Amino acid sequence: MKPSTSQVSTPVRSTMLSYGQQWIDEQDIASVVEVLKGSYLTQGPRIADFERAVAEEAGARYAVAFSSGTAALHGAAFAAGIGLGDEAITTPITFAASSNCVLYQRGTPVFADIRPDTYNIDPEDIERKLTSRTKAIIPVDYTGQPADMDAIRALADKRGLVVIEDAAHSLGATYKNRKVGTLADMTMFSFHPLKHVTTAEGGVIVTDHHEYYKKLELFRSHGITKDPEMLLTDEGPWYYEMHELGYHYRMTDLHAALGLSQMAKLHSFVERRREIASIYNEAFSDLPGIVRPYQHPDTNSSWHLYMIRLEFSEFSVGRRRWFEALRAENIGVHVHYIPVYKLPYYQKLGYKAGLCPIAEQYYESAITLPLFPKMSNQDVQDVIHAVKKIHAAYKY
Ligand SMILES: *Cc1c(COP(=O)(O)O)cnc(C)c1O
Repeated sequence: MKPSTSQVSTPVRSTMLSYGQQWIDEQDIASVVEVLKGSYLTQGPRIADFERAVAEEAGARYAVAFSSGTAALHGAAFAAGIGLGDEAITTPITFAASSNCVLYQRGTPVFADIRPDTYNIDPEDIERKLTSRTKAIIPVDYTGQPADMDAIRALADKRGLVVIEDAAHSLGATYKNRKVGTLADMTMFSFHPLKHVTTAEGGVIVTDHHEYYKKLELFRSHGITKDPEMLLTDEGPWYYEMHELGYHYRMTDLHAALGLSQMAKLHSFVERRREIASIYNEAFSDLPGIVRPYQHPDTNSSWHLYMIRLEFSEFSVGRRRWFEALRAENIGVHVHYIPVYKLPYYQKLGYKAGLCPIAEQYYESAITLPLFPKMSNQDVQDVIHAVKKIHAAYKY
């Protein structure tokens, strides 16, 4: 039976299911309240505790917390020495922050196309886009699946480039059984509520390099230091020096206390995400025209996002109608991402449509389905039911 439009039938759900959502419990609330009752709302002990928890989870020596993942990327671009005239290569299938950090430092983002299977940046296209001005490579572990980090590392080592991994999607993921956090010179995690664990707003850079660690600490706090090892002189106990033009990008103790409590739940959250992804994979295995997310055997994703792609030859309508029909079923679908260089600001800078054809084809056909650990089994079944209903309505 094919309904002529999806609006005439009763929606699969009566209330909207969002595509992502945090999971806060009483323990999280208690740990924030404890900070509120104490002496330090910011610049207290919870920040270092949270940083230690993230460094340990990521297998890295140092962690530096920032007020957001975007601020953390800015810090990494600064620590990498990106400046006027320098280029950094990244993917267009990402959130704008991955390349904006290069612009903040007056550098030039260069976009390499994605692989058609994993949707991660393609090392072969990175190689084609290297120039004498390339200073850094910024791969993104898209959806939670690590990029081809060994190939990227090899390209970087040949030319002395810095690798900054945007791991906003991939906390808890592994690549060739190595943890994300051990694969790049600097790795960024975001703690926005849609990510694996949250601090409300927050970001962390992990690194094994002491030099980057020191620069990141300076950068997040005005470029000011009181570290006796860094001071040029000493005029007294009040004395400090400003060595760089830094920003005020610090995380507060309130946010860090929430993050510390949330980190204890990371593994169970990631397990639940993997479980939901495998239920989707199974349910969509026999739906012609629906492409499920390919997983490279080198990776074990932490599944920030789950998207399907539509093979247009199979359907009577395009992506937009599919999207609207799923929303009409109260399934809070989304689209990740508009290729960054197609955003009006980047167009004004002179980036041209057509730059990365595989990324553009991908964008045209992708729909992100709800995926977050707090989803009930019924929520998961509602999504599956809605996809099958729309599939039946629009399949040739
Ligand atoms: C979430 C995200 C960031 C950083 O976001 P913040 O909201 O600033 O923490 C950066 N890159 C990607 C790919 C992201 O998804």
